[in-house]
Amino acid sequence: MCATENRENIKDTQDMENVAARVRELRKLIEYHSNAYYNADSPEIEDDEYDALMRELRGLEEKYPRLRDDNSPTVKVGGAASSKFDSVTHEVPMQSLQDVFSLEEVEEFCAKFPNAEFVVEKKIDGLSVSLEYTDGILTRGSTRGDGRVGEDITENLLTIASIPHRINTSAKFIEVRGEVYMPRKTFAALNEYQEENGLKTFKNPRNAAAGSLRQKDAAITASRSLDIFVFNVQQARGVEFTTHSQALEFLAKCGFRVSPEFAVVKNYSEAAQAIGKIGSQRGELEYDIDGAVVKINDLNLREEVGVTSKFPKWAVAFKYPPEQKETTLRDIEVTVGRTGVLTPTGVFDPVMLAGTSVGRASLHNQDYITQKDIRIGDMVVLRKAGEIIPEVVSVAKHCGGEPYVLPEFCPSCGDKVFRLKDEAALRCVNPECPAQLLRNIIHFASRDAMDIEGMGPAVIEQLIARGMVNSPADIYKLTPEDVASLDRMGKKSAQNLVNSVEKSKSNALYRLIFALGIRHIGEAASRQLSEQFGSMQALMNASPEDFAAIEGFGEVMAQSVCDYFSTVHARELTARLAEYGVNMEARSDEGSAADSQALSGLTFVITGTLDGMTRDEAKALIVANGGKASSSVSKKTSYLLAGENGGSKLTKAEELGVKIISLDELREMLGNS
Ligand code: NAD
Repeated sequence: MCATENRENIKDTQDMENVAARVRELRKLIEYHSNAYYNADSPEIEDDEYDALMRELRGLEEKYPRLRDDNSPTVKVGGAASSKFDSVTHEVPMQSLQDVFSLEEVEEFCAKFPNAEFVVEKKIDGLSVSLEYTDGILTRGSTRGDGRVGEDITENLLTIASIPHRINTSAKFIEVRGEVYMPRKTFAALNEYQEENGLKTFKNPRNAAAGSLRQKDAAITASRSLDIFVFNVQQARGVEFTTHSQALEFLAKCGFRVSPEFAVVKNYSEAAQAIGKIGSQRGELEYDIDGAVVKINDLNLREEVGVTSKFPKWAVAFKYPPEQKETTLRDIEVTVGRTGVLTPTGVFDPVMLAGTSVGRASLHNQDYITQKDIRIGDMVVLRKAGEIIPEVVSVAKHCGGEPYVLPEFCPSCGDKVFRLKDEAALRCVNPECPAQLLRNIIHFASRDAMDIEGMGPAVIEQLIARGMVNSPADIYKLTPEDVASLDRMGKKSAQNLVNSVEKSKSNALYRLIFALGIRHIGEAASRQLSEQFGSMQALMNASPEDFAAIEGFGEVMAQSVCDYFSTVHARELTARLAEYGVNMEARSDEGSAADSQALSGLTFVITGTLDGMTRDEAKALIVANGGKASSSVSKKTSYLLAGENGGSKLTKAEELGVKIISLDELREMLGNS
């Protein structure tokens, strides 16, 4: 072999190694994102970015057949059945669809079946489900899972109003496939609620639908107003069809909401027209679609054409490209929400995107702005994520602006803002900040805090609107006459309310600490602080080291308390409350900080995102009930308290056989406290 040939071979081998490494990397990336999307219902990248990874992998596997693998994500249906639910084996596999990204590919597909009719349908962006009816009664409903085994979610599906519990048919058995989705309006309202209440928001309606449907508690599903379109008869006994369109008409007669405005077409050019029509309606629909599906209509021909391990060969899904437009960022407005979080919003020269005019988009937080280096005056690329939420994709050109830094002071009250160690958001912690006042006072007066009977949201709203209450301390100067002047308030109720205000002055100290609404300081942590420091004065003067000495008291909680008491407003508020005679001292009858000894002798490790509680709060709860909270899993760990997306601690606990429990199970151990 001559020297050049040898070099060529070496180069070939190196190239091949590089390709194989890229294939491995792509599979790993795709599997990671599939898991986030299908199993955790929390995607980290946009669908078109995911599709691009999948396309690159498919291209390489086609070009280098020896790199193909039966376990590659290109040949498997994404997703898995979680052990949260009973599993259901699908008699007819619930397959995926072959995506195409150009009309030429649709033409190629149609050309393979010269005399065939096709049905063009909207591809609803939701969660695929199967519904089984025996003698007309809905007997089981399940998710797709990995296509072969899904999750039994019958209870949850029964809560969706548009799913018939009973259908009028002579068929002995019928299995129907459909897509459960969340209407756009419901999604917007849900996210607003989640944000206002400091809960996790959803990235798009599909995730919100998936997260709402795969709940252990069907009441949560019921509260989320989900809907469904059905688009296929998977199997039927006692009824027969020769075409898919007949089957859809049958489903409509049975009372299902069927694939909306499906079109029966004779050839590619009619199919292309139907795809164009759906594309032009995309922005205005009340639900999200992520493409158009072209399917062979004749069911016998479908049989002949067959399927691959992942999708039918008798259909393709055309994916519309995401719409993007360039525009100028004119300004960044900063507002403070009811929870004190500062939100920067970009104000742009308006552009039309997915059917609506877009002039504003959230810029989320400082990290987001810094990562993309967004500056006022920039030319930016905008799009609607998941077709709905406007976002900045990137900066196309800087136009002389300076790097943008969020203000250090609250735009509502002018107080200094803070950033806690584990948070991306800047926060105003002023208890008297007008933007947060309503929420703060509702919390202050609530049952677990100062427990002021009769002072509910409606009364508080009026007190604030009439300027009688601008701070929690103002509650203590209200007279019976003030209260009686409110709408729908009799003399007697006014007197009762003032009496409960009076009574709350002698509350235990921990109630007052909790009522201040310090971030990450829940009831259990408030009890710990009360017991540890004995008085409000001592608590206010405590140093970070003093907090570090309290068992189970996290760094973030300590920082939060220190930040809070470093503001003038917080100190003034406590001084005023003391002046009005509100108790500032811990008393012996408050009892011990430990709520109970229910967890005595047990060691807990916490991982993942807990629903409705931070990890620090859970830690405080454990310690307050006599348990120990540790940071690493070992054989000595009694329980791993796991939320969503638990990481290596979860794996370690599984390996060591440590019992894994949810927050609900922990609450059960504490007698649901
Ligand atoms: P798919 O969702 O693209 O297509 C198959 C699904 O389409 C079926 O499950 C079916 O329920 C649904 N469908 C809706 N309307 C239909 C109709 N009228 N007829 C037939 N089917 C209909 O395929 P997939 O493999 O489940 O998922 C791939 C999709 O998920 C891609 O859009 C991809 O971008 C996205 N994804 C995104 C991420 C991410 O991280 N962003 C990760 C994984 C997958």
